[in-house]
Amino acid sequence: MYIWLNGNILKADEVTVNILSSTLHYGIGVFEGERAYLTADGPSIFRLDAHTERLFRSANIIGMDIPFNEQEISAATRQVVRVNNYSAAYIRPLVFYGHEHIGFTSEGLSIHVAIAAFPRDTVFGSLHTKNGLRVQVSKFKRVHSHPDLNLVKATGNYLGSVLAHRAALACGFDEALLLDNEDYISEGARENIFVVINGIICTPKLNSALPGITRDTIIRLAHDNGIAVYEIDLSVQDLMKADEAFFTGSGVEIMAIKSVDNCLIGDGFTGPITQLLFKLYHAAVSGCNQTYTEWNTPC
Ligand code: PMP
Repeated sequence: MYIWLNGNILKADEVTVNILSSTLHYGIGVFEGERAYLTADGPSIFRLDAHTERLFRSANIIGMDIPFNEQEISAATRQVVRVNNYSAAYIRPLVFYGHEHIGFTSEGLSIHVAIAAFPRDTVFGSLHTKNGLRVQVSKFKRVHSHPDLNLVKATGNYLGSVLAHRAALACGFDEALLLDNEDYISEGARENIFVVINGIICTPKLNSALPGITRDTIIRLAHDNGIAVYEIDLSVQDLMKADEAFFTGSGVEIMAIKSVDNCLIGDGFTGPITQLLFKLYHAAVSGCNQTYTEWNTPC
């Protein structure tokens, strides 16, 4: 496997991080998770521009000045898929600090960018669309100490999500659902959530959830197909009474939710709107719908 590091393509085992990297100690770094799919034009990254923009927005909010511009990072992201000869991939850009000192300030620290990619041929979401995920409402809250931090895909933001996910698995569930400070639904450990109530799609407002690129894609696909989407406060009771519910994320795609705390959603099977959006999403990512081909960037 080859990794892009600061402008160079290196073999994965040649890429090392010093143990004193400030990112490792304080969780101050930003990253992305994106996918390349096989299209008629070869492997193409889905919504590359949106991911690169979010990486730069995340870095900007926490004051990391990425030493490359957006065009260079997008080109590097495409290059990683090419040099690894992947037809489909999961791609992980990471911006991290160097190890010039162990102090609390980030002044004087170098800033590095690594972009790794992993082969991802199968459609992960399809594994779950028939049965759906069993979700646990987590004791961990999705709370940020400053409202801007929910806009940031920062390494340090993931501590609660990883522990929530781990706790859900330990209890025999597939995924965790995190609530915000007021006990409204925020998001999954690594995905946004949608519910379908009487043919209308609802999703939590972005008070504490990450502004997901798949969330944005689903809102557009639903809208273009005449299905209204409302951004509202949603309680766990709203979710339990919903006809359908699903998670969205670049990695997980569209995943039906079967139950929440063992309470079945609808009849417990993947509902028609979830199935429709899943099909529309797959047509878009694989470049099969001409309306959305500007979302596919060939590698
Ligand atoms: N929320 C969190 C906490 C995530 O980690 C992710 C994955 N990036 C998402 C939502 C979904 O975001 P996207 O659709 O941009 O992948």
